[in-house]
Amino acid sequence: MNINISELLKGNIETLPFNVSFDEDVLERDDFKLKLKSPINISGIICYDDEIINIKGKISLVAESQCSRCLTQFDNPMVVEFDENFLKNQESDDFYPILDDNIDLKNMVIDNLIIWMPLKPLCSENCKGLCPICGKNLNYGQCNCKTDNVDPRLLSLKDFFKSSQGGGE
Ligand SMILES: [Zn+2]
Ligand SMILES: [Zn+2]
Repeated sequence: MNINISELLKGNIETLPFNVSFDEDVLERDDFKLKLKSPINISGIICYDDEIINIKGKISLVAESQCSRCLTQFDNPMVVEFDENFLKNQESDDFYPILDDNIDLKNMVIDNLIIWMPLKPLCSENCKGLCPICGKNLNYGQCNCKTDNVDPRLLSLKDFFKSSQGGGE
């Protein structure tokens, strides 16, 4: 995922607006793997100032995620803003390296996605999940299992209210 920045490094231009797409099936690194349903689009502006290449913009893509409640695969659109710095011949926690006349966006993209991504993705905020008894996906309708909606820890409290109401006035 390289962008050529030679014109910036030579001083021919001060800023470089960009809009690039990378068509990959999977975005992966040792500690990261994301199945993609769209190209990775990255757009923004690159500035060169005193050895530092600053790049700001946004990453947008559609990933294939698994819902943490109902376990179905769904298309998960992501738009992540970033603001990162690259430095020549150096890699530290604060900078990504400039390699010859290029910057490689891959690590920067993955790091920003890791920070942004929810630990428990949901196919929808209102996902009803699976029935704990038969496993049916409740987004497609109710099952016939008899589940009491009352939390078991509250059952004794419910009984208490029943008997106190039954006591009459
Ligand atoms: Zn779901
Ligand atoms: Zn059920």
